[in-house]
Parts: sequence; C-alpha cells; structure tokens
Amino acid sequence: MIGSAGPDTQRCSRAGCTTDATWNVNWRNPRIHGPERVKVWLACDEHVQFLREYLAGRDFPVVVTPLGESVEVVG
Ligand SMILES: [Zn+2]
Repeated sequence: MIGSAGPDTQRCSRAGCTTDATWNVNWRNPRIHGPERVKVWLACDEHVQFLREYLAGRDFPVVVTPLGESVEVVG
C-alpha cells in the first residue's frame, strides 16, 4: 500500500490520491503487531482525517504527526 519513494516524492497513501503527503499517520494493529511496532501511512491535508478515522474505526491505535516526524510507540 505504501510505495518506498524517495524523500521528494512522498505521496498520500490514500488509494488514487497523487497529492504530496504532509502528514505521517502512525498506527499498528494490536492483534498482529507488538507495542514496539509502528506502521506509517503518509497523508495529504485532504485525507489525513479519513485515514485516521479508518484506522481508529478498526480499534487500531493511531497517532498523527507532521510529515517525517516519527514516533517510538503508538498507543
Ligand atoms: Zn490524499
């Protein structure tokens, strides 16, 4: 779902969106990931809320940070 693009081509992770990302959506699936595991989606301004709510709706812990700002632990 996430392309491993270079730092200058970081696109939103929303399917079909080609906008440059401005947010990191940090999350994990507690059923398969340990607490130290952090998955990252990239999101543009338009889709950051969609992606966060998508994950939160599945009861996944989510932390949104500015693009490139990573977190050690989610939830
Ligand atoms: Zn987008």
